[in-house]
Amino acid sequence: MGALDVAVVGAGPVGLTAALALARRGITVTVFEEAERLSTEWRASTFHPPTLEIAHDLGIAGAMLAEGIIARTYQIRDRRDGLIAEFDFGMLADETAYPFRLQLEQYKYTQIIHDALSAGHPDVGLRLGEGVTGVTQDKDAAVLTTVAGEQVEARWVLAADGARSTIRRTLGGTFDGLTYAHRYLVLSIDYPVETLLPGICDVNYIADPDEHLLILRVPDVWRVVVAVRPGLGAEEALTDAYVAERLRGLFGEHPELPLRERKIYSVHQRVAETFRRDRVLLLGDAAHVNSPMGGMGLNGGIHDAFDLAAQLGAVLLDGAGPEVLDGWAHRRRKAAIEAVQEITHRTTTEMAEQDEAERRGFQQRMSQIAADPALARAWMLDAAMISNVRAHGLPLAAAGRVGGGPVVG
Ligand SMILES: Cc1cc2nc3c(=O)[nH]c(=O)nc-3n(C[C@H](O)[C@H](O)[C@H](O)COP(=O)(O)OP(=O)(O)OC[C@H]3O[C@@H](n4cnc5c(N)ncnc54)[C@H](O)[C@@H]3O)c2cc1C
Repeated sequence: MGALDVAVVGAGPVGLTAALALARRGITVTVFEEAERLSTEWRASTFHPPTLEIAHDLGIAGAMLAEGIIARTYQIRDRRDGLIAEFDFGMLADETAYPFRLQLEQYKYTQIIHDALSAGHPDVGLRLGEGVTGVTQDKDAAVLTTVAGEQVEARWVLAADGARSTIRRTLGGTFDGLTYAHRYLVLSIDYPVETLLPGICDVNYIADPDEHLLILRVPDVWRVVVAVRPGLGAEEALTDAYVAERLRGLFGEHPELPLRERKIYSVHQRVAETFRRDRVLLLGDAAHVNSPMGGMGLNGGIHDAFDLAAQLGAVLLDGAGPEVLDGWAHRRRKAAIEAVQEITHRTTTEMAEQDEAERRGFQQRMSQIAADPALARAWMLDAAMISNVRAHGLPLAAAGRVGGGPVVG
């Protein structure tokens, strides 16, 4: 086999987004995925306006909207004091064609991209069950080694192989940051939870010094993402007794709540030292991980993929020099550090605040912001990742208003 133009390692949501964005430019791509099938793990469930504009550009926004829930508002609450602030994405209607959060399970997004690739780009190779164990490179090409020992040559390698990225480890370089002391227990509840907590909306951030949490509606279920006390073992946090106590604490005496899934996750904030090593580019969780508070990790990865496809298109099709890839690496690393890490860490800290004076101060600040239209708008531009993509030059002009261009379709 001759050298591939682009090899993508990892058929998660970010790797497949890159594959679709490249294929739509006419670039041949092969994706290597170690698992035998695409993941059905839930994880991310929120798609912000700029990501929906990217989806529009990729021709999949309609399918996403048909499967997801449009969340027009979100609330910040305190577990003891109740509602602190409610924000309406409608105030961003003149900023984006999609003034809402779309609640949709990550695996459904992945499946939608997979369907778009199968229907429109049968030439994209998807090699399931073919993990990659390492990469070497010289000035002409990069060479991947698969688990089966095959050597595959590619002009460019996109490492979208997740937080534990084999490619990132092979390249060396740091992945500095922090691991939070708490973990999150994720419970999927097949019950109309809004009847037990009247007044909540589809997305609720709930502060508490002991057990802060998120309550989210996704198409199939309600998800509760609750902080687990530092030091408590994962096994204990997953026991029936521990889960039942959390549910009682949240809902009081309640009817039987069918649990579809329970999982526990560690939470990190980390960014790779560099997103480009010559012919290898790191994106998505392979390049940056963050707390789920704010729902930005996957969105940032999709932004990486979309921007990278534009830059690789310029290199492969229009004769641009590889310095445009350095520009990409610099921009996306900055976006990860200055916007995503900053907002998700701040949100996690505020939700978990222990100090009573700080807690009250946060509540007052949020009430003031929600009550002042100009402050609320600025807050929402950050929360919806619009200020992020504007500050970090995502090439979105063709897709919608976020990037400054006209709305198409
Ligand atoms: C509880 C929770 C809630 C979250 N909520 C949100 C949210 O609301 N919004 C948001 O934006 N983000 C959220 N996130 C983060 C989001 O899930 C991740 O950012 C996202 O999964 C990253 O996608 P990815 O494609 O980069 O990596 P992954 O989803 O990890 O995919 C990597 C793929 O690479 C494959 N792979 C790994 N190693 C190899 C190898 N050596 N060779 C070949 N294939 C390999 C894996 O099998 C996998 O298919 C959440 C995360 C968690 C844990």
